[in-house]
Amino acid sequence: METIHTVAWMKQVAASARKNDRVLGLVPTMGALHEGHFSLIHAAQKQCSPVVVSIFVNPKQFGPSEDFQKYPRTFEADRAALESLGIDYLFAPPPEEIYPLGFRTYVEVERLSERLEGRSRPGHFRGVTTVVLKLLEIVQPRLAFFGRKDAQQARIIRRMASDLNLDSEIIVCPIVREADGLALSSRNRYLNEENRRAASALYRSLDAVRREIAAGERDAARLLVALRRVVDAETRVSVDYAEIVDADSFEPVVSLRKVCYVLIAARVGGTRLIDNALIEQTGDTFGVTL
Ligand code: AMP
Repeated sequence: METIHTVAWMKQVAASARKNDRVLGLVPTMGALHEGHFSLIHAAQKQCSPVVVSIFVNPKQFGPSEDFQKYPRTFEADRAALESLGIDYLFAPPPEEIYPLGFRTYVEVERLSERLEGRSRPGHFRGVTTVVLKLLEIVQPRLAFFGRKDAQQARIIRRMASDLNLDSEIIVCPIVREADGLALSSRNRYLNEENRRAASALYRSLDAVRREIAAGERDAARLLVALRRVVDAETRVSVDYAEIVDADSFEPVVSLRKVCYVLIAARVGGTRLIDNALIEQTGDTFGVTL
């Protein structure tokens, strides 16, 4: 595996792979790698060669009171893991490579970026789309891999790729979970033992929605009551938002549509966690994927 630190060299390596008609894949990450990231990498390796994994803790997507400074950084362990997975290129630029002095250009996806995560974390998605656009422009992969764990982010990136006529196809991969259902996240390592146990309430609340839907419930407000009953019973968990939204617009729905998401964000101790379930209609039945 080659570790690349500069934009210029990354561009050159990627351009030469494209010239040789190879199917270049990109997996953007902020490091502190876990099985969620590895699942994206496996998906990339199935369809692409070479695969570029980027590790960049993007300062522009953290608010002033957020955890940029203390965000987990485990670079040597990440590098060793990627090496053993047979990754071709690790792109790990220092911040000044991505944001040189005088940097002034941002990309923003209107509306989709303003709700839910965007509302709770002003400026977050502007930082995400700006860095992802830069990564997509530097590497110009045929396919780029993202997790459904961050469903709103994936939707926004797809919108951006389509609006800006990018050639990269955006692939969205399933959520990888712990045995008790907690979605894997680099931030889970902030949780102490009690909070870690309580954190499974997010998954359990989504599972309650799944059961209500299986029992025939279609009304969004009543489904959210079922969700709240579970998550509000956990005193260590404080909900930031819980909504059922259309999968395309991310606007709230009154009753279930063809494709929608149940989205939840909550604080457990000082740690902010998000999770979601995908609801899809086939014929008269609604299937729920956690
Ligand atoms: P991050 O390093 O947190 O920015 O995540 C990098 C990519 O991994 C994003 O596309 C995430 O959606 C994805 N990801 C993070 N956690 C999971 C998970 N538990 N399952 C699937 N994908 C994930």
